[in-house]
Amino acid sequence: MNHLSRSCIEDVRLFKLGSNILGKPNVYVYSFLVDGLLIDTGQPLVGREFVEILQEEDIDKIILTHHHEDHSGNVELIKKSKGINAYGSSLCCEIMLSPPRIEPARLVSWGQNKAARILPIDMSVPIKTDSYSFQVFHTPGHAADQISLYEANRGWLFPGDLFVHDYIRAFMRTENMGEQIQSIDMLLTLDFTVLFCHHQPVSKNAKQRLANKLNFLEDFYGKVKEAYLEGMNPKQIMKFLGLKEQRLIKFISLGQLSTMNMIHSVIRDLK
Ligand SMILES: [Zn+2]
Repeated sequence: MNHLSRSCIEDVRLFKLGSNILGKPNVYVYSFLVDGLLIDTGQPLVGREFVEILQEEDIDKIILTHHHEDHSGNVELIKKSKGINAYGSSLCCEIMLSPPRIEPARLVSWGQNKAARILPIDMSVPIKTDSYSFQVFHTPGHAADQISLYEANRGWLFPGDLFVHDYIRAFMRTENMGEQIQSIDMLLTLDFTVLFCHHQPVSKNAKQRLANKLNFLEDFYGKVKEAYLEGMNPKQIMKFLGLKEQRLIKFISLGQLSTMNMIHSVIRDLK
């Protein structure tokens, strides 16, 4: 069953997309539309419905926060149907020419994203719309190509997938905890009141919620570092931290998503 619903926070339109062949979706992703700027394009599995609903919207340009399939999935479809361009970091442009094959769990939830031609964004100048100005920051850690957008006058932060939740239990193999800490630390120097997270938009205590995520990651990183420097191996560190592997998630993602990946990410940094 495909899900597509609309809502708003202040002047930002939210499109919530989900898909599950067996019933109600387990996971959702949001795209945001503000003053003609579409931020991310949802997952391929809901492409047809999303393009249809966007027919009635004015869109001038698309920004991709990063290449993951739940963000970039319909970029080519929307570009063509609207006759507009899409932009992302230069690394995102490169990856989107040949996106990596995704594993079965992600294929079922989101679908495989196809190659797309997008243009590199100039991060030294803000993206201007009729009423707003968005600063662009390179904020790697969740994905190396990820950018965040910030509208200072309205206090809107679009952090890609850097928040998702106050704490997390699993990492993708490619995630980098040290870089996530640095990116979130930088974003917390900004003055914002709404966090347009693509999996959980937050309009109350937004800054505190992102600070919670930073505290969680710093605490986790510090404990893994301490244990590793004492000579423990990754399995012993799991036990030392009182953690249990998310076996089902690890299994269906073919190891791409796991708690152990969080520990490995810290150890890679220390080596
Ligand atoms: Zn992502």
